Amino acid sequence: MSETEISLEAAARAAGSFAEPGSIAGLAPYGDGHINASFRLRLRPGAVRAAPVARPSLPGSSGEGPGADLLLQRINERVFRDPEALMGNLLRVTSHLRAKLEAAGLPEVDRRTLTVVPALDGRPLARDAEGGSWRALLFIGGARSAGPARDPGSVRTLGAALGRFQALLADLPPPRLAPTIPRFHDARSRLADFERAADRDLAGRAASVGREIDFFLRRRDGLGLIAEALESGAVRERITHNDAKGDNLLVDEATGEALCLVDLDTVMPGLAHYDFGDMVRTATSPTVEDELDLAKVEMQMPLFEGLARGYLEGAGSFLTSAEKSYLAFAGKLITFTIGIRFLTDFLRGDKYFRVHRPNHNLDRCRTQFKLVQSIHRQEEAMQALVNQI
Ligand code: ATP
Ligand code: MG
Repeated sequence: MSETEISLEAAARAAGSFAEPGSIAGLAPYGDGHINASFRLRLRPGAVRAAPVARPSLPGSSGEGPGADLLLQRINERVFRDPEALMGNLLRVTSHLRAKLEAAGLPEVDRRTLTVVPALDGRPLARDAEGGSWRALLFIGGARSAGPARDPGSVRTLGAALGRFQALLADLPPPRLAPTIPRFHDARSRLADFERAADRDLAGRAASVGREIDFFLRRRDGLGLIAEALESGAVRERITHNDAKGDNLLVDEATGEALCLVDLDTVMPGLAHYDFGDMVRTATSPTVEDELDLAKVEMQMPLFEGLARGYLEGAGSFLTSAEKSYLAFAGKLITFTIGIRFLTDFLRGDKYFRVHRPNHNLDRCRTQFKLVQSIHRQEEAMQALVNQI
């Protein structure tokens, strides 16, 4: 069953695990996420439900005002194989964020971090009759998603939100967070997957992508730069978001102020560069990921400048100069790696990324490769700009 087909009836049954039936005022599908199934659960004033984790002083929703609804989500277990470990991460990360935001004296902390609300039995997850895992978060009211950033100002806001997020988590005490998607960042295994897919040629498409395979062969050397820096100890592992994009940033509906990065399921150990590089990929060309007119795909310096300024404003306090020295390169690396993943999926017959037209994955790959070339041409200038900030 796809996550979008999770019925309202199933959600209503799950809602009963988080709030007494008499407390529920409404339930409706919510948002535009593609991974989990999300519902807004409206509660009556004085509703009976568990207190949010990390805020045990609050007995229930009463007194929390209009923002006390819940976002009820069924976790997609085809993507996240270990929901318990995922919730373990989420609890530690959100408690840490809350403690730091409160210590900094920020107002409305409930709107600046996700907050887990356990089920009535006190557990962070509720299992339904089909074995599905459900969780609830405090619903952040009066906010909207920032959406794709297309101008230097919005890119800067997004970069700053990401930098702050990484900075707040830079001192999360051990143990290491669980990797919620194994091998997520293993570029070498991605490249090996590609070579295997090209050899096997299961969909009979390899002959049509000679130019792309050639591009891969010419560029693959030197891509281990950051991984080698990690091995030698020159840069260190951080805690990263791994899906930082405008759709996952909530901003205040009235003022536009950045509030909270959501969608924390992929938060895990990684390199700061992976998040930054993915933002270079998604926010520095004013085009969509599957743009057909490759002439329009271009890394634009004013957008990169917005991103780098915002990011360093937020992350500056913890980022070392060694880490900073790979930021421009990171954009190229991540864009290349994602391009290879699209090409791999094309060669396998479109098994992973959903396609909406023939050659869709190949188009996506070509867009990434064009952007790689554009970044490559401007890489020195990009890094010089980072060094100046
Ligand atoms: P994606 O496709 O981005 O991976 P997802 O299925 O993992 O999405 P989320 O990004 O977690 O889903 O959220 C689904 C929707 O709910 C989004 O529109 C998001 O902006 C919104 N949202 C997430 N958390 C909250 C919250 N605590 N309060 C209000 N809205 C939220
Ligand atoms: Mg999302």
